[in-house]
Amino acid sequence: MSPLVHRIVDAKQPDLGKLANVDPPSAEAPMAYSEQALLNQCHPVFKPRLEAILVGLRRKGWKPKIAELVRTSEQQKKKVATGVSKTLKSWHVPSTIGLLANGASALNVVHGNAADIVDERYGWSGLAARHSFKFWRDLGQLARDNHCEWGGDWEKFPDPAHVQCLFVESPALSTVVV
Ligand SMILES: [Zn+2]
Repeated sequence: MSPLVHRIVDAKQPDLGKLANVDPPSAEAPMAYSEQALLNQCHPVFKPRLEAILVGLRRKGWKPKIAELVRTSEQQKKKVATGVSKTLKSWHVPSTIGLLANGASALNVVHGNAADIVDERYGWSGLAARHSFKFWRDLGQLARDNHCEWGGDWEKFPDPAHVQCLFVESPALSTVVV
């Protein structure tokens, strides 16, 4: 680094420090909880399944709340950096896709949706800190009943609040051109 560049960088430091103390208008600012607004973010394939899971939990006397639904890539990067999540390829992030073989020479593009659901009285603490908590078991059963995957079934990194649904939106239409 040349001395000139060094001076410029140093001169900027106090300004950066001041900026850091100012609350910027943030996209992550807390907003009033609206289950309907969250449900409206779901893909049409996932929405009725998630609604059925929430109805099923309420029938059992729980007070389910969608803790998280759609994340930005930046939010996911932060989760991986802090160890909360293990993968950048999360189905909470709308841009995530997968590829699934369709016969020997074609691939289907897989999309997905995910939601984290907790009982609003417990969140992840107290009784809910245990994987065997009845709410998590009921959530897992309802997820399976509605053809969704339950994060509590994952052996390496169980995530009992997590429910996801993967789907192929349309068969790939591209063909190999030699
Ligand atoms: Zn999740």
